[in-house]
Amino acid sequence: MINTVGIYNECFDFCACVIMAVLVISRLTKGYQLSFERRGSMVLTLLDVDLFLASFLELTRSMMLNNAAFNLSAAIEVVGLLQRIAYISLSYLFFLFAYFLVHEDQPDGKKWLLISFPYIFIAAELIIPYSRDKIYQLIGNSYYLRGPWQWQLYLYSIIYMVGALVIVWKNRQKLQKEKQQKKRFWWILSFELVYLVTIFLRVSFEYLQITYFMLAISLMTLTIWLNDYDLDSWRTQSLIDELSGIKNRQAFRRDFGQFVGHDLCVAMIDVDNFKEFNDESGHETGDKVIETIGQKGLIQFGDEFYRYGGDEFIVVSQMKPQDFVAKLNLLAQDVKKADVGSRPITLTIGYYFGHPRTPSEVRKLFHLADANLYFGKSRGRDQIIGEKP
Ligand code: GH3
Ligand code: MG
Repeated sequence: MINTVGIYNECFDFCACVIMAVLVISRLTKGYQLSFERRGSMVLTLLDVDLFLASFLELTRSMMLNNAAFNLSAAIEVVGLLQRIAYISLSYLFFLFAYFLVHEDQPDGKKWLLISFPYIFIAAELIIPYSRDKIYQLIGNSYYLRGPWQWQLYLYSIIYMVGALVIVWKNRQKLQKEKQQKKRFWWILSFELVYLVTIFLRVSFEYLQITYFMLAISLMTLTIWLNDYDLDSWRTQSLIDELSGIKNRQAFRRDFGQFVGHDLCVAMIDVDNFKEFNDESGHETGDKVIETIGQKGLIQFGDEFYRYGGDEFIVVSQMKPQDFVAKLNLLAQDVKKADVGSRPITLTIGYYFGHPRTPSEVRKLFHLADANLYFGKSRGRDQIIGEKP
């Protein structure tokens, strides 16, 4: 079911190619900075490179088909074969990326999903030959066919643009804080508005279909920048817990990748009956307890001591197990001796040793330490549970 025939120009393929090149460069310069999701961002970079190659090959093939001078059937076949390889690896990389999204410890899975959304769209609708041919298909002699799925593209574009507009508008204050961002904000906003207006006024002439594609893709690029900005601001977020002055959960997640491949001692620490303590002595005194534990922990373990949240703390250390357990004991004594509130503060601690080789083995180590902590709680609290080193 083919609707209309239009005249093709290479402009679209060229733009797609250039945009993908920009993405590759931006990903290469930025992607490796985040250590904890290194494998995820490595795959994303490979995806960019592959998408770039695919769009470059498509451009090459279109130019060959449309210019008599390059129209060599053998060469076109070689390019076609390379394209097929690029498509197959694309599918593989998408699968791998989805796998990492689910299985690696991501700081914020939703944000990553948002970042990958435009990629999934570009690949699914425009680059993978099967669906692309349903939208428009180059038939040589500078003609293209408009396929039955074209409405999908418009529907998607409208939903995406409206969504992006809402996101931009909702974040306008945050985006306008810095001068450079302010400029970018107005760029994105006006781009999106122009795009929406042209759609709703149904502006239409021969080449406009192609123009829509270009506009849609350039908007996606802008949206990716926007996401990158979000990622940047998230990256520079505080890694220090305000109350206790030690590293927080954010820092723990950032450091997570560094725990793989080492002999580790891991401990989970929880304050005993802290709710009761808060009720008796007041929340402010409770805050002082958290502060005190932070200070004492810092003395024993330095920056290997984290506040995981609430009244929970985590230690991840590469010191000798004997020393580690001795220091845990010192910490519990120090805290008990501290003069805060009407009664001594006790801690229950669960620990575990191991040599994790993968992120999931690291996670397992924390689970085992946590299980020991809960065992200690059930046995009456104020104790340190773990195998003797
Ligand atoms: P358990 O011995 O079983 O751990 O008993 P618990 O009362 O300590 O129970 P749990 O660890 O589940 O409760 C944690 C309490 O810590 C809940 C909340 O009232 C208190 N809390 C969490 N964060 C803060 C904080 O920043 N300041 C203060 N003052 N209290 C906090
Ligand atoms: Mg507690």
